[in-house]
Amino acid sequence: MMPNEMKSPGTPLIVGQGLAGSCLAWEFLRRGVPFRIADLGTGGSSRVAAGLINPITGKNFEPSWRIADFYPQAMAFYRSLEEKFGAAIWHPHPILRLASSEKEWAKISVKLDLPGVRPWLGAAHAVPTGFLGGVELVGGGWLDTRKFLDLSADHFRELGLSADTGNPRIRCEGAAGLIAGSMGEHRSAKGEILTVRADWPETHIRIGAGGWLVPIGGGCFRVGSTYDWDNLNEQATPAGLGRITTIAAKLGGADFEIIAHVAGIRPILRRSQPMVGKDESGDWLFNGLGSKGTLYAPGMAAMLADWILDGVRPAPEFVFPDALS
Ligand SMILES: Cc1cc2nc3c(=O)[nH]c(=O)nc-3n(C[C@H](O)[C@H](O)[C@H](O)COP(=O)(O)OP(=O)(O)OC[C@H]3O[C@@H](n4cnc5c(N)ncnc54)[C@H](O)[C@@H]3O)c2cc1C
Repeated sequence: MMPNEMKSPGTPLIVGQGLAGSCLAWEFLRRGVPFRIADLGTGGSSRVAAGLINPITGKNFEPSWRIADFYPQAMAFYRSLEEKFGAAIWHPHPILRLASSEKEWAKISVKLDLPGVRPWLGAAHAVPTGFLGGVELVGGGWLDTRKFLDLSADHFRELGLSADTGNPRIRCEGAAGLIAGSMGEHRSAKGEILTVRADWPETHIRIGAGGWLVPIGGGCFRVGSTYDWDNLNEQATPAGLGRITTIAAKLGGADFEIIAHVAGIRPILRRSQPMVGKDESGDWLFNGLGSKGTLYAPGMAAMLADWILDGVRPAPEFVFPDALS
């Protein structure tokens, strides 16, 4: 007998086992709720993602939306799974945020004393050649998303949870669901990413020059990324290769060997925030993790589980505008 009972009848089916579906599945397991999970197994952006969490982001050097709520939840979630798996999936790593121009450095330096920024600042650090300024950030790192998804899939399979049918459906379909058109307006963006081998320092994740470079061990690095709102497919392109090669040269150096080049589609809703909801057919929805699924998936999954299982509807900012109650 499971400790929790669904407010809806039947055994729910989680559709999609990317970051969204996997985090929700773990949340259901934690609460002892029966469910099934299905995935097309044909792609998805979680398998492409660098898994980076960067607390202070963007051109404007702003704390990530709601980081104070979502960051502790994400850390606790990944750490508890590491204990369960007996394997590392979250790799903490200091970040070096670099500025290429006086203007960019001015935007950063003016924020360094803000209360939302200060806790994430690390030690003073030398700025690499080619940059005008830089600041170390702590609290960041990268999730080995593939390992997380593969270990999760193995576990769900061992428990006999893989299936194609169930009711209600909980659609965690990423960009495929948004492109299919049933979740309202979206501005999903294709992104390409390289894995390279190089003799570069591995002490820091480097962010600057319009991209990022993440040391993943063994002399290898992930470098990205591109944004393309027009060609929503998972094909790596020569144009993407050129763009990321330029980023790699600026952030690391000219000498590197390309090991892999892949593409995925970030699921981005019009408001650029993740959302959950329920549509008129009775399907639950979990989408819009955007460029920051690693940070937001665990907390949003917990929120959706509270809603489905206990009837606790999240605050409006987390809910699809047309969602039923
Ligand atoms: C190049 C690139 C780099 C990125 N880097 C980062 C990063 O550094 N940090 C970060 O936090 N985020 C990053 N992201 C974003 C991140 O990938 C997303 O936020 C997140 O992975 C989205 O997860 P999801 O589960 O919603 O979607 P997805 O990962 O796309 O998962 C959806 C799953 O649903 C399945 N599916 C779809 N339809 C069906 C169906 N009808 N039936 C069964 N299964 C179905 C798909 O096969 C897929 O496995 C990056 C994205 C890209 C493209």
